Amino acid sequence: MKKKEYRKAVSLIHNVKYGGLPTHYPSLLSWSKTKNLSKISKLWEEYFFKDSNEPFSVYIHIPFCATKCRFCFLQINSKKNVPDEYLNALIDELVYFKKMGSIRKKTDSVYIGGGTPNLMTAAQIKKLGKALKENLDLSSCRQIIMESNPGFWDDEKIEEALKMGVNAIISGVQSFDEDISSLNNRTQNMDNFFNVINKFKNNGVLVNIDMLLGLSGSRENFLKDLKLLAKTYPHQVHLNRIKPLKENQILIEKNRLKDMQNKAFSFLEKIGYKRIDEDSASLFGGRNINIQGNPSYQIYSTILGLGSSAMGHIFGKLRYRNEKDYKKYCLKASCGILCCEINEKISEKQEVIHYCLNKLSDGKVIISELKNIFSEKAANYALKKLNKAVALKLALKRNGDYYTAGETDFFALTVLFYEKKYLKKIAKIKI
Ligand code: SF4
Repeated sequence: MKKKEYRKAVSLIHNVKYGGLPTHYPSLLSWSKTKNLSKISKLWEEYFFKDSNEPFSVYIHIPFCATKCRFCFLQINSKKNVPDEYLNALIDELVYFKKMGSIRKKTDSVYIGGGTPNLMTAAQIKKLGKALKENLDLSSCRQIIMESNPGFWDDEKIEEALKMGVNAIISGVQSFDEDISSLNNRTQNMDNFFNVINKFKNNGVLVNIDMLLGLSGSRENFLKDLKLLAKTYPHQVHLNRIKPLKENQILIEKNRLKDMQNKAFSFLEKIGYKRIDEDSASLFGGRNINIQGNPSYQIYSTILGLGSSAMGHIFGKLRYRNEKDYKKYCLKASCGILCCEINEKISEKQEVIHYCLNKLSDGKVIISELKNIFSEKAANYALKKLNKAVALKLALKRNGDYYTAGETDFFALTVLFYEKKYLKKIAKIKI
């Protein structure tokens, strides 16, 4: 491969991130159109009937929002309601997997994301809750988390969410200023916001609030937003920096955004929060709220992704994404057909590379942990690559563990760890 091709492939890989989660290895840019559904069913069946140590969780995607926000990079359908046809298809998919054996596994967590899941009516939330209880083993489920738009909650919906077992919510606020929301084509009514958050908190539900820095437009609005955020005193705060949807669309200078983010975190630290990563702060000082959002969970778990565009993963075997087109998804699910649209079969080798790339971007690879998760063969493969990273001065070795420090060269690390077959495929993508 030529240097130009490497640059193109690596830059495309680094541009693919979903909600800040670690980039998959191999990147979904290299996955193939699903041709053989029965092979994928077989992998799931084998997984459900075999013992394995990694946690099993379920991700449910609700890809509908009242309007599409101008800054949103997700595949979203603008709808005033979640179509019943879609909810029924989700339930059909749950039943399909139950028949295959999913109920044999203890579900560790359920994440209902979107989109705007609380666009569902109270009756739909109730129906989904019933389907989850009937089709999954939730007896030791640690968390049911739901993303939501604060303006779409009402008492009935909250009650049904609590009955479903929701014990954490992610509330996308982005900006408290309704004019700014409407300028960004965002449907958001904040009238009942404080009551809604208090009601959840009073019922023992953990609350995370997402804000988008750079949306506020002015320094005054930014400070006002921060004070209102402090007034709700959520358990966790996510302060994302706005990203241009296109390379040439610079909304606000990068360094200024970083500066705003740092100021916001020092304000939060003064009132009791602890910064837990680049974009989040927590009252507990740990990643307590979103189990599935924890990078370690994304590295070592099996996730059954249900719904249109949902992504899933059988550890050491498969990564896949369901049909993007929700109508096609509904048709397939209602006919009892597996909804996978693209996939990549993987082995332990790809998992250990995924592990190293993500751990290095987080700062360190602890060898005892790596050896605990992976076989000797996979661990030895990783050690060879890690030692090469040290020889190339991309990482440091201390007391047997591997660290990245200061300005890490992620381009060089990606080139070192990525298998050529994937880079070649990605470099061929037309942009
Ligand atoms: S509410 Fe969230 S998911 Fe929906 S369009 Fe806006 S940013 Fe995208």
